[in-house]
Amino acid sequence: MSRSSLAIRLSAIKGFIDPKVRVEQYMTDSEIAATVLWDAYMKGDIEGKVIADLGCGTGILGIGAMMLGASKAYLVESDGSAIAIAKENVRDMESEGLIKKAGKKGEKGKEESESEGSAEFFFGDVSDFKIKADTVIMNPPFGVKSEHSDRRFLEKAFEISDVVYSFHKSGTVRFVEMLAKAKGFRITQVIDLKFPLKASMRFHKKRIERIGVSCLRMEKIA
Ligand code: SAH
Repeated sequence: MSRSSLAIRLSAIKGFIDPKVRVEQYMTDSEIAATVLWDAYMKGDIEGKVIADLGCGTGILGIGAMMLGASKAYLVESDGSAIAIAKENVRDMESEGLIKKAGKKGEKGKEESESEGSAEFFFGDVSDFKIKADTVIMNPPFGVKSEHSDRRFLEKAFEISDVVYSFHKSGTVRFVEMLAKAKGFRITQVIDLKFPLKASMRFHKKRIERIGVSCLRMEKIA
């Protein structure tokens, strides 16, 4: 697998059918997802690791992590229609052999490891998710439409993992840095990106608008 073949595979991931403005549903562009996931993979943050994708939407980040050999990915999402599409995406990628299928627990005669390489879905609010992960990779709501929603995601990420990759509007990086510091984390890397926001919502006038987004890698200070 290379970065560009990952990008091609991720371009097949289905997005939101009817994106909801209130919870800021924007799917991460497949090229951008591939860039960030590949970088995390090269740093040793994905292969053989337990990943949590908080606010997974239709699943692109968690699914990409599984394609790169994550031992498990938790896909956490509070919107039922998004999680239904994420499940379809996982099934499609499993049937193409791009990610490992969940072993059926309790099935007689099957010694297959329980759910190695498989997705686990958590349908609910991010604040209620309590499982520890090696790496969080998330593109949460930017906190534009609902204030502080990005804060809830960051606090949860710092609670469950020592390594966090998170996307933020470039203008809010200072805020993220302060919060990280208060929780004993430091920023080890900033990837500056231009996010294409397709005109999927009625209030978008230009067909494709690009906004400055940074993906931050944060690590717990030992
Ligand atoms: N991570 C996906 C989706 C980004 S959009 C991607 O990169 O493509 C942000 C997602 O967070 C949306 O799917 C939205 O439904 C979800 N979300 C918003 N508030 C949430 C909350 N409190 N708990 C869980 N998910 C939430």
